Amino acid sequence: MSTLETQRIEGHAAIVGDGMPINRVLPSRLRRLVGPWCFLDHIGPAMIDKTGPLRVGPHPHIGLQTVTWLTAGEILHRDSLGSLQTIRAGQLNVMTSGRAISHSEESPAEATGEIHGVQFWTVLPESARLGEPMFDHYPVLPKIERDNLSITVISGEYDGARSPARHFWPIVGLEITAGIVDAPLSVNPAFEHALLVIDGQARVDGEALLPDVMLYLGAGRNGIQLSCDASCRIILIGGKPFEEDVLMWWNFVGRSREELTRACQEWNAGQGGFGEVQGYDGQRLIAPMPPWASAPG
Ligand code: MN
Repeated sequence: MSTLETQRIEGHAAIVGDGMPINRVLPSRLRRLVGPWCFLDHIGPAMIDKTGPLRVGPHPHIGLQTVTWLTAGEILHRDSLGSLQTIRAGQLNVMTSGRAISHSEESPAEATGEIHGVQFWTVLPESARLGEPMFDHYPVLPKIERDNLSITVISGEYDGARSPARHFWPIVGLEITAGIVDAPLSVNPAFEHALLVIDGQARVDGEALLPDVMLYLGAGRNGIQLSCDASCRIILIGGKPFEEDVLMWWNFVGRSREELTRACQEWNAGQGGFGEVQGYDGQRLIAPMPPWASAPG
């Protein structure tokens, strides 16, 4: 086997909304992108009767897709297109901001138990980033069962199974649940990949996958060897290395500082085509101005 690069990217604990514990793995100082994936929050696992419900008030996005996948619990999504959608374990929400959208996320009133999942963002390429905003809910995704493995295709295509999720750049996203296993998994050598264990522990090509530490594998691999001594749940993300220079600030992905500054100003002024989220019982979020934007006056 050739000596291909690996990189360990340690997430950092943070709070989103009114008190939901998450571990943010992307972006990191060490790595900003894996294919088009530019953001990864591991949500929970948390018990809502201890942490309180998830409550993230109306906020805007540009230049990205939010990709939300739960393994336990529920989130109620509202957006400026009028979407009102509860996502449950094993389902996928994909919101495509295009040029501008706003949304809120909250635990539905009946939610009292565990919440556990991931929220990713993917960068929209130049050809799609100024397009129409869209929201898609996918209640059922393709699943591959073999070798004591269950592989759900969240994004892109794997082993002949294709996710229905809408994307704009060559991509793959899998949830792999395994019992006791030592099995090869083929991967696309044209894609870079990374793995994050979200339940249990595992090894990839003999390297330990540790909780909340992403293992970046680079491109050029045809396969990996996955080993678990007990049950584990792993997220694999990958894609064609993204070729455009992107900048991120707060909830915005853009191409220049001026664009990001303008998005903050327009959202805070109630302008910019972000629309309105109806029905959320709380305040809209305020965009923090970027450090490069000079203070008024
Ligand atoms: Mn959001």
